[in-house]
Amino acid sequence: MFNVALGTLLCSCSRVADPDQPPATNRSTATAFAMAEAPVESPAASGDAATVHAALPTSSGAGPVTAVSAALPAASTGKLPVLMVHLVTDTDALYTITKARFRHTLALLYAHGYRPITVAQMIDRRIDVAPGMRPVVFTFDDASASQFGYIEKNGSLQIDPESAVGIWLAFARTHPDWKPRATFCMLSGAEAGRSFFGNKGIEGQKTEWRFRKLQFLRDQGFELCNHTLWHANLAKYPDAFVQEQIARGQLAIDSAVPGYKVRTFALPLGVWPKNRALAQRGQWRDPKTGVVTRYNYDAILEVAGGPSVNPFDPSFKPLSIRRFNLQHDAVDSLVARLERTNTGYVVPPLSR
Ligand SMILES: [Zn+2]
Repeated sequence: MFNVALGTLLCSCSRVADPDQPPATNRSTATAFAMAEAPVESPAASGDAATVHAALPTSSGAGPVTAVSAALPAASTGKLPVLMVHLVTDTDALYTITKARFRHTLALLYAHGYRPITVAQMIDRRIDVAPGMRPVVFTFDDASASQFGYIEKNGSLQIDPESAVGIWLAFARTHPDWKPRATFCMLSGAEAGRSFFGNKGIEGQKTEWRFRKLQFLRDQGFELCNHTLWHANLAKYPDAFVQEQIARGQLAIDSAVPGYKVRTFALPLGVWPKNRALAQRGQWRDPKTGVVTRYNYDAILEVAGGPSVNPFDPSFKPLSIRRFNLQHDAVDSLVARLERTNTGYVVPPLSR
């Protein structure tokens, strides 16, 4: 059982401003993650928040919620939100959400019948969510320590309970059908602790912990997604550079989790390379080793666009998936709106 305190809502995050170079180590969070475009979805009006509050159940156990909507949309219709998260911090800033907001968002979505799946599940239509429930995709961009931190205690490593992964797993312990299903779109060579969830002691994270974090996520069932080497604006560079940025990001994932098939790619800044096809497929030859790394993605994530259509919708384009920025109380507003207009995707009664 839990209560949702809408009055405590805080939220902001969006695409990372183009550093066009590795972010400076000492760059402030607010600067390094400055928003480059306005959110597509406007923050909730107070009336929306009231609507959400009124719709919340008074209690919710660990078991599946049923009857999320009296009138279900047709099976192939309805929006399936792909949420985008960057930093999870102590303060609200343009590109961050507070830990309180993150906790609140999980509780809010759960109470309204949402259950998480990965991007890979979405594009494969492998939606292992009970009939009557609403799938939702969380995507985490940029691999900051705020998403997945370790704390060293007496020689052993513990997941920072205040990092997003720690918060997620704690929520799952009391809500067992909230599975470890989310997609982490990672940088592997950025500075300022944006290299596989932290390095060089930044924010207390050691470089040698990085691979262990990726392996843990994989083992749990989270999806590993490539977000390039260091977040360059791919539109500004020649084809060879674009392919190097993407391939080296993938190569780094393979170093941490050998043989892992990376299926999803998130465009830095949501910007396509001049040669758009190179976002999906390409190759790079390491000049030092001669080894060629090839990539061929099944899903490409953009930055904005609002809630995605569901993968059964004929208009769904896996190589151009819209995302919904988790900022301010936008998700509260979205949840209310999808229910009010009956335009959210609900898993139909009969399994596919
Ligand atoms: Zn990013």
